[in-house]
Amino acid sequence: MPEPITYKCINCGVCCNKLLIERQGVRKGLPLLPEEVDLFRKDHVKPGYGVGKSPRDLNFRIIAYQMRLNSCPHRRLGGCFMHAYRPAICRSYPLVPVIEQGNRVVKTFDMTCITLKDRIRDYPSGAVPVMASSLDVENEYYPLVAAITERLLKDLDEAWFYNLKTGRWVPFKEMLTARVSRLNTSSNGTIHP
Ligand code: SF4
Ligand code: SF4
Repeated sequence: MPEPITYKCINCGVCCNKLLIERQGVRKGLPLLPEEVDLFRKDHVKPGYGVGKSPRDLNFRIIAYQMRLNSCPHRRLGGCFMHAYRPAICRSYPLVPVIEQGNRVVKTFDMTCITLKDRIRDYPSGAVPVMASSLDVENEYYPLVAAITERLLKDLDEAWFYNLKTGRWVPFKEMLTARVSRLNTSSNGTIHP
């Protein structure tokens, strides 16, 4: 068992101000679960993932959303304005869920967090971070992400992602193939659902 890393957020705000990820013409925002859309202004929220034969289909259903801004409107000098109610992805951070090669949802570190990056550098490879803030959402959040992913993978011909850059839906399978939606700096070809 690798030695765990004790990690403390220093509230630098970097992770709240670099929310947009862009790869190969696809732009992604902060991922939101359907029940989290009301945490942001309506015009700041866009669809994320949808299922259906076509986005124009009457039965098309949005199953996840995203926040479209690079800097979070809830960030203040002292920290997160809505800390107690922040989205699950923020509570989980800097652990983020990703789809591994083989389409399994796993957790990985987002190395945008410089503090974590510095800490990990001091530890032997394979060490795991210990963060109370992420551990308390583990049981609740990751199964929901896994369920959304499972729904997308169930029928790839009916799975879609909303590209913030173009304002258009793109087939999810194209993203899987190109691995363009990676939200973190891990190098194992993972993508964030
Ligand atoms: S909701 Fe709070 S923790 Fe999440 S990105 Fe915004 S300011 Fe940061
Ligand atoms: S980047 Fe890391 S240290 Fe900075 S606010 Fe985010 S979690 Fe905390």
